[in-house]
Amino acid sequence: MKTVYVFGAGASAAEGAPVLRDFIKIAYQFFKEEDYNAELDIVWEFLENFYDTKMDLSCVEDLKIFPGLEEIFNIVDWSLLQNQAFSIRFPRPRLHELKTALVKLISMTLDKSLPSYNGRHQSFVSGVVRGGEEVPTFISLNYDIVLDNAIRATGYLPEYGFYGSHRDHLDCGRGIPLYKLHGSLNWSYCPLCGEISEHNEKVAHLLFKDKLTITCLNCGSDHSQAIIIAPTLYKSYDFNRLQNIWDCAATSIALCDRLVFIGYSLAPADTSIIATVKRALNMVNKRREIVVINPSEKACQRYQQIFGAGCRIQCHKFTGELI
Ligand SMILES: [Zn+2]
Repeated sequence: MKTVYVFGAGASAAEGAPVLRDFIKIAYQFFKEEDYNAELDIVWEFLENFYDTKMDLSCVEDLKIFPGLEEIFNIVDWSLLQNQAFSIRFPRPRLHELKTALVKLISMTLDKSLPSYNGRHQSFVSGVVRGGEEVPTFISLNYDIVLDNAIRATGYLPEYGFYGSHRDHLDCGRGIPLYKLHGSLNWSYCPLCGEISEHNEKVAHLLFKDKLTITCLNCGSDHSQAIIIAPTLYKSYDFNRLQNIWDCAATSIALCDRLVFIGYSLAPADTSIIATVKRALNMVNKRREIVVINPSEKACQRYQQIFGAGCRIQCHKFTGELI
């Protein structure tokens, strides 16, 4: 039986990763209070000037009133897309700078907050790999490398799908397909040759530092960028290799017999994911089992809205036990 596992933020949260709505608060504690980092000052300045009256941020409690990271991203992106400024203090060039700082905030916060041992993922992946007759496919919407490490711990390598088709990846022997639709902390993108380099360790948080360069493994250029597709309504996927990853993910869903969603909330704003999964399911006409592991009743209801009453819902956290 061909199974595709789709991992969302809730799976990483079960290992201790922060959820999106808490990112700003956690980043403030890490990089303003504990270990001050001037590179994120523009984020705090934007928040202090978000309302009509300037507000002084003096502790993490002051951040309670603000919208979450996702909404801040949407506002910044919308202004940039519409060619508009946000305020006198935040004209377009500063909004670009702010957007870079927000991506930086995500990669730095994840780098600092994830525990190095991720037991649930490891026991789950090793159980799936040992127990199944067919190679499983993983799709992840997370930037962290928890699932990647769990695959490596089984003796296999993650096959990210930058090239080739999903069928090639299933047959490649030592690799297990892991399609990361929003990028990854261990990837760097080279704007000169257009290739993505994969690294064993996280590099995204380093790519923003002026003095540190990550060399492109393909052409040797020193100007690589992070691939972190920001959590906004106006996501842009304009990297060729990323398009291949999305195509492979769609094919894997079209061919599967069982589609398992773990810790993914299926938020209405995730139109690109929902449309891709629906299209993939419509590509090949077959009966598939859809299984949902999610502790939120509201999220579980969303699955029935989108995939119908036939989904098998398990309303609990990701524990690492086999499904
Ligand atoms: Zn290059």
